[in-house]
Amino acid sequence: MGSQKFNAFEMAQSQFDRIADLLKLDQATRDLLRYPIREYQFSIPVRMKDGTMRIFRGFRVQHNDARGPAKGGIRFHPLETVDTMRALAMWMTWKCAVIDIPLGGSKGGVICDPHELSEYEMEQICRGWVRQIARDVGPYQDVPAPEVMASPQTMLWMLDEYEVIHGGKFPGFITGKPVSLGGSQGKKESTGYGVIFAVREALNELNLSLKDTLASVQGFGSVARHAIELYQQIGGRVISVACWDQSDQATYTYRKKEGINYPELLAITDPFGGIDKRKALELGYEILPGEAWIEQEVDILIPAALENQITSENVQQIHPRVKLVAEAANGPTTPEADPVINERGIFVIPDFLANAGGVTCSYFEQVQSNMNYYWEKDEVLARLDVKMTAAYHDVSSLAKKSRQNTRDAAYMIAVSRVAQACKDRGWV
Ligand code: GLU
Repeated sequence: MGSQKFNAFEMAQSQFDRIADLLKLDQATRDLLRYPIREYQFSIPVRMKDGTMRIFRGFRVQHNDARGPAKGGIRFHPLETVDTMRALAMWMTWKCAVIDIPLGGSKGGVICDPHELSEYEMEQICRGWVRQIARDVGPYQDVPAPEVMASPQTMLWMLDEYEVIHGGKFPGFITGKPVSLGGSQGKKESTGYGVIFAVREALNELNLSLKDTLASVQGFGSVARHAIELYQQIGGRVISVACWDQSDQATYTYRKKEGINYPELLAITDPFGGIDKRKALELGYEILPGEAWIEQEVDILIPAALENQITSENVQQIHPRVKLVAEAANGPTTPEADPVINERGIFVIPDFLANAGGVTCSYFEQVQSNMNYYWEKDEVLARLDVKMTAAYHDVSSLAKKSRQNTRDAAYMIAVSRVAQACKDRGWV
């Protein structure tokens, strides 16, 4: 997760402080919103397949729930830290506020490496996580969802454990469930498609025809894949994809200048998103170093992997042709790299707006689960497009009106909505 010095929570707080100054927030509101409202850290004992016991560290951080139940994903990653959770929980609060859904922000996770765990051990970790926190999460308190290395199956194990503990059926407890068991149509596409709905609106405003644009993508997980799928379906061309290689413990950029073939790449990808290098070479892909995705001669960069990827060290390598950065990941650009991007006149769709499609569809899933009435895929995606398009234009018009960059404008909208909810409830 980037360099040793990088601390995502400090980054999230420094972004918040800037906006608190711009909005002239009072001291109590600053003190409340700079920190999570609640956080839980716990141990999850698991009997491993070989009979030994191992203890995993688990977290749930609830940043703010003034606008509704807290909402946020669960990550399974060996380098997880409580500060990463805090930052991501805070970003969830802003994300739900900017897209204007009645939810707050939270995030959770377990320090572990799913690559090294059997399915049985993963199930024990998921159930153990729920056992530790079952009284402090729920459909009307805090609703988890999948994130890094989580899946519909992990969500279902968690739901099942929650229902055993509480003695009933509570499909609205968690989102990202399998479609056959209370999941929403369109959920797996939602974050990636949402990014491209926002890209489409931004290109229109920049007077660029999407069909003439080239893109370079960092990441080949669920978000990246669906962004690539929709962007290419509507006429764009992705020329490179950077992807983690588990066996080499390194990232490589796979490039095909005439445009990558998404189904072909998918067919040579393992379940954790790693691309088979030998087969990629046979199919005519160039294999470049992992960092090469950022220096490609393209119009659009889509960082869709982890935080801390566009930094003061590599921001200068962005090619002069680039006009748009669509931040599909959470926190991919550091505050030091931000001004350089702005000075170069590159338009940014900031992370918590660009990738808000995922939580928006989670909200639709929660509504459907609580009603026990499910919508068709077209309906889900059409509603998603309406929410993404409206939020994009709210941010873009405030940016123009207030002469702020889009990140600051998105923050101003989100922070003022949350601050107002806290004030209205009498918390500050
Ligand atoms: N993990 C996703 C995010 O960062 C989605 C969270 C959710 O669906 O609740 O937005």
